[in-house]
Amino acid sequence: MSEAEDPSVAPSAGRTLTQLAALNVDVLKGVAEKKAAALASWDVHTVLDLLWCYPRRYIDRTRQADLKDLALGDEAVILATVASVSQRRMKNKRVMVELTVDDGTGVMRVVFFNQAWRVRQLSVGTEALFFGKLDAYRGERQMANPIVDVLVGMEGRVQGTAKTGRIIPVYPQSSKVGLTSWEIGTFVGEALRRTVTFAEPLDERVLNDLDLLDRTSAMQGIHNPETLEETVPARRRLAFDELLRLQLALVMQRRLLERDARGILHQVDVGEALSAESIAPTLVEQFIAGLSFALTDAQRRVISEIFTDLGAPLPMHRLLQGDVGSGKTVVAVATMVAAVQGGFQGALMAPTEVLAEQHAFGIRSLIEGLEIRDEGRLEGSRPVSLALLTSSTPAAERAVIVQGLADGSVDIVIGTHALLTDSVVFQALGVAIVDEQHRFGVEQRAALKEKGRSVDGEREDPDLLVMTATPIPRTAAMVVFGDLEMSVLDELPPGRTPITTRWAQSELEETEVWGRVRDEVGDGHQVYVVCPLVEGSQRVQARSATEEADRLREVELAGLRVGLLHGQMKSQEKEHVMTSFRDGNLDVLVATTVIEVGVDVPNATVMVIEDAGRFGMAQLHQLRGRVGRGAAQSYCYLLGEATTEDAQRRLTAMEETTDGFVLAEIDLELRGEGTILGSRQKGRSDLSLAKLSSDKDLLIAARALAEQLTDGDPVLANNPLLADELRTTLNDEDAAFLFKG
Ligand code: ADP
Ligand code: MG
Repeated sequence: MSEAEDPSVAPSAGRTLTQLAALNVDVLKGVAEKKAAALASWDVHTVLDLLWCYPRRYIDRTRQADLKDLALGDEAVILATVASVSQRRMKNKRVMVELTVDDGTGVMRVVFFNQAWRVRQLSVGTEALFFGKLDAYRGERQMANPIVDVLVGMEGRVQGTAKTGRIIPVYPQSSKVGLTSWEIGTFVGEALRRTVTFAEPLDERVLNDLDLLDRTSAMQGIHNPETLEETVPARRRLAFDELLRLQLALVMQRRLLERDARGILHQVDVGEALSAESIAPTLVEQFIAGLSFALTDAQRRVISEIFTDLGAPLPMHRLLQGDVGSGKTVVAVATMVAAVQGGFQGALMAPTEVLAEQHAFGIRSLIEGLEIRDEGRLEGSRPVSLALLTSSTPAAERAVIVQGLADGSVDIVIGTHALLTDSVVFQALGVAIVDEQHRFGVEQRAALKEKGRSVDGEREDPDLLVMTATPIPRTAAMVVFGDLEMSVLDELPPGRTPITTRWAQSELEETEVWGRVRDEVGDGHQVYVVCPLVEGSQRVQARSATEEADRLREVELAGLRVGLLHGQMKSQEKEHVMTSFRDGNLDVLVATTVIEVGVDVPNATVMVIEDAGRFGMAQLHQLRGRVGRGAAQSYCYLLGEATTEDAQRRLTAMEETTDGFVLAEIDLELRGEGTILGSRQKGRSDLSLAKLSSDKDLLIAARALAEQLTDGDPVLANNPLLADELRTTLNDEDAAFLFKG
């Protein structure tokens, strides 16, 4: 092997991530078979994997807490040695592990419940950090269930690598696989020493402009800081790298699609479509003029953003963000009508049957009276036609709709996943809209788009509009929907009275809530009651909802007309119940979360959410958005205690604000990126340092740089080092897509 080919020899320009990813961790001294296996079970296989395990925190030896100085109630990190360990079974069969630990200044008791494995992890003599709150148990000082980081285990004592610095990095090692933080630190230290320098993918100028450390200093600074202050710019640089890789992947994906795409030039005129009067109004103008309300400024602005895209040669890829009740549906319909006016079709896909039905019902009345030209008819025109297609559409009806979509006699179709089946073919799909995108995967978005028309075997891509159910923070949107342009409806239609939200925790308060419900019904208003979430199948959920409805009918809401809606009902039954409620023939609708999205009954003024602590923030906000749709004062009552601290914060936040954008930010802080990014992110260069809630500026800078680097260079031909890095760190599928050919 020549020197240039041997990846263990650093080239003068520094080691690339690709080279580090090609080295197995067992090249490191001390990583023999057993340790390598332990690392592997923790998903660390290569030297790069190891270097990307960042410390969870640092201990500054000069400022470490001493047990003797701690007061009861203090939260602290104690570095101590295990002096004794025992376990016993308690009355309730749970195992309790009990330790005495000694830090040289004092001793305390440490107890763990239901964590029998701690006995093995924390054998006598083990040195570890215990992070928790000091309290007292029968007069003895103790910590219960603290976070533990083992620094030096009894067997794992590493020779000759005594840490002399003041700052000790603590790695989030998985103790269950038998590695101590100390060992990981030692391996990382060796990897850094032997790497010497890291190849730098960013220009000197970019580093200066963005005030970023070079990568070599950043790696040193995060793993081996001399002072705590050093870790800050180090983390910043490495977080930037994570965000940049992610943004590059997204921006490149968009640029490649654009390069290969041919869009439809829709017949729209941005200004004209929104002007008040015209002599020969277009279909869009007729639609807007026919609305029973004036569009909000935000709706006008967003519609013109969309129409600009529709009239442009590239297919639209746009995300529409708007709070619950901001009027996204009208925007969606205007977009579809714009397609129809040029002879194309529009499709809207919703995540549930209830929502699709609701949309079909509402949109049918919105487009009532709209006529399009049809030379084949005596009248010279025909009404714009709308169809609803779900998996419970009867076969005969379905056949008619499928035929109508294929021959163009159906202009607008509303549906569920059923739209994606192979037999559904469009004559000329011009606009595809996906509502409540969080319920759909990227694949389904793409699949709907694929339904685009085929003219003489040549494809033109339909324009795509994706709508969110509730706002997501801008930073999260830039990551999850980073390949889409964004429009924001940041204004609610006028005349809404803000919803009053109260969290009723005690039984007394709950009784008051049911009293309010009866009062509101007495005033002619209607009420939703959302049943507690229960674990288990749809069937289990349905049974519990049924029981709850029966109970309410007999006790709290006796004498009122109470209906029931859940996911196990046949769609005809569901429709029947919804219609009764809408028509005012029911006072109260007891429902599972099937009513979460889209249901629109302006006369409903009370939303009661039982056991609210179990619902997520977006869900709570979305449910609350079912009321407050008319002029009357509306109320949202959250019932039940919070079982976790997060639940407590969610419910308090709900009481404090009705602004979905604010709630989304709080939710991001509470949940972190993981759950929000979900499967979209899986396999993509993960965010381990970057925090979407606090690294907003960094993300925006990464986005801008990604745009700039790929401008005119969609596969990063001028930045081979970065391209190489992306290829290594993206999952295979994404990499294959970006770098094909
Ligand atoms: P969401 O954005 O949550 O999907 P919808 O599209 O369901 O909201 O609209 C909520 C309600 O507001 C509907 O009843 C709709 O008819 C009404 N609405 C929409 N735009 C306006 C407007 N500009 N003025 C008054 N009411 C409006
Ligand atoms: Mg909606």
